[in-house]
Amino acid sequence: ASGHTLLRDKRHNKGLGFTETERDAHYLRGLLPPAIISQELQERKMMKNLRSYDVPLQRYMAMMDLQELLPVVYTPTVGEACQKYGSIFRRPQGLYISLKEKGKILEVLRNWPERSIQVIVVTDGERILGLGDLGCQGMGIPVGKLSLYTALGGVRPSACLPITLDVGTNNETLLNDEFYIGLKQKRPRGQEYADFLQEFMSAVKQSYGEKVLIQFEDFANHNAFDLLAKYGTTHLVFNDDIQGTASVVLAGLISALKLIGGTLADHTFMFLGAGEAGTGIAELIALEISRQTKTPVEETRKKLWLVDSKGLVVSSRVESLQHFKKPWAHNHEPLKSLLEAVKAIKPTVLIGTSGVGQTFTQEVVEAMSTFNEKPLILALSNPTSQAECTAEQAYTWSKGKAIFASGSPFDPFEYEGKTFMPGQANNAYVFPGFGLGVIMCGAIRVHDDMLLAASEALAKQVSEENYAQGLIYPPFTNIRKISAQIAANVAAKAYELGLASRRPRPDDLVKYAESCMYTPVYRNYR
Ligand code: NAP
Ligand code: MN
Repeated sequence: ASGHTLLRDKRHNKGLGFTETERDAHYLRGLLPPAIISQELQERKMMKNLRSYDVPLQRYMAMMDLQELLPVVYTPTVGEACQKYGSIFRRPQGLYISLKEKGKILEVLRNWPERSIQVIVVTDGERILGLGDLGCQGMGIPVGKLSLYTALGGVRPSACLPITLDVGTNNETLLNDEFYIGLKQKRPRGQEYADFLQEFMSAVKQSYGEKVLIQFEDFANHNAFDLLAKYGTTHLVFNDDIQGTASVVLAGLISALKLIGGTLADHTFMFLGAGEAGTGIAELIALEISRQTKTPVEETRKKLWLVDSKGLVVSSRVESLQHFKKPWAHNHEPLKSLLEAVKAIKPTVLIGTSGVGQTFTQEVVEAMSTFNEKPLILALSNPTSQAECTAEQAYTWSKGKAIFASGSPFDPFEYEGKTFMPGQANNAYVFPGFGLGVIMCGAIRVHDDMLLAASEALAKQVSEENYAQGLIYPPFTNIRKISAQIAANVAAKAYELGLASRRPRPDDLVKYAESCMYTPVYRNYR
């Protein structure tokens, strides 16, 4: 691991200035994104960045990496910097594996300084949040998700490995940007892509064994479903966009029943957006109803309707539909708009997973309120600008009848003297606890029943007091306790299914989960 040491040695590090030969000779493969940027270009980039900051502290932060080269910055900024050092401290993070490393991915993994890895979050950067193809710059996502694994789920930071697979980008702006840190080529499709992922998945198993959790994050849907299906039988894999979101939303629905009444089977669901989130949620709901009513899932799916950019997903469209939409092509006349679909199907629950803001219009919300005493409206798309409607709109247009939750947070809203608390339906509620549960029992596969177990555990954490405020999720402030409950329930299910390898099974899984959780406390150095 001398490459890692070299990058942290300020006298010798050249960052992206290392040549191909140097990268091979000094075990640097993977520790840097693939572009090679000369010292002269690095200097120009630094100056450009510095000049773009207005706030002195930001300039200070930009210069921190360069203190050997530049005069030391002085008061008052340096004082403020010391006060805030904890929050601005930065170091290189994550492992970059690009197409240049094809054939040597195993060696690249060896360059990472930690040997004992429990969770990998990996992206290929093609569908970053609602922002699209960001190529190699998608690294912020695995890094951020793993911070939450540690902060919310108590997974040891050194056991977390963020990885970006750089297979190029189709983003023209990035391809034409001289400062872009990734491979400047278009994304391969088909066999070349599949082979690269195959090499990666094998190398991970060879390096870290069978019990490392691999979380796929922000892959585009034309790869995400296939990867999950392909590796679900050979590796411990989890797709947060498909499965994590589904588990969180199902939890919200289970607890919402206390407010809107009935069982899941009594309700009719409509989704705007039939991609990873929409079809993932729909499938888990159908599965849960199937379990509860002992009805085949092919039947229970008929209670869920999906609308995509071309309108209602119906059987007459089946030939041209992507494979993950086909199970949702029910018999109905084609309808172009959400409003038409809502009026025709009369759903009790409306879920937004389109990534497009302001698509739950006043007419849609009013229609939902005419045939429902308490319409359940979930605007899941992120960030806030992409929310299908705001909390204010949901409460105002439904005249205070709606139960509302959203992917990004909204402030409480007062309507006709009553304060409404919008809940936040975000997958951060589930994946940290889910991951903890899986690794603490040494699970070797993820099973759908483990997702259902996570939903149940989360729903149980909503108190009477929360319900009284119209909330269908517990407050985020208790998240570590919630994560321990989720982890315990997931592990219990894994043991039940014979998928847990840690023996003997701890008697009290909640206590065991808590004992596994890492807390950041400084050691004493003498
Ligand atoms: P995706 O796989 O790309 O799916 C998007 C779907 O929306 C596609 O079916 C697309 O239709 C449809 N769509 C796009 N524009 C539309 C329009 N104007 N009217 C109707 N349908 C439209 O994306 P995803 O992974 O499901 O993510 C979608 C959104 O959900 C993102 O904004 C993401 O931030 C959010 N999300 C939130 C959470 C959470 O925890 N709250 C979790 C995951 C995702 P076509 O198939 O016809 O193109
Ligand atoms: Mn995601």
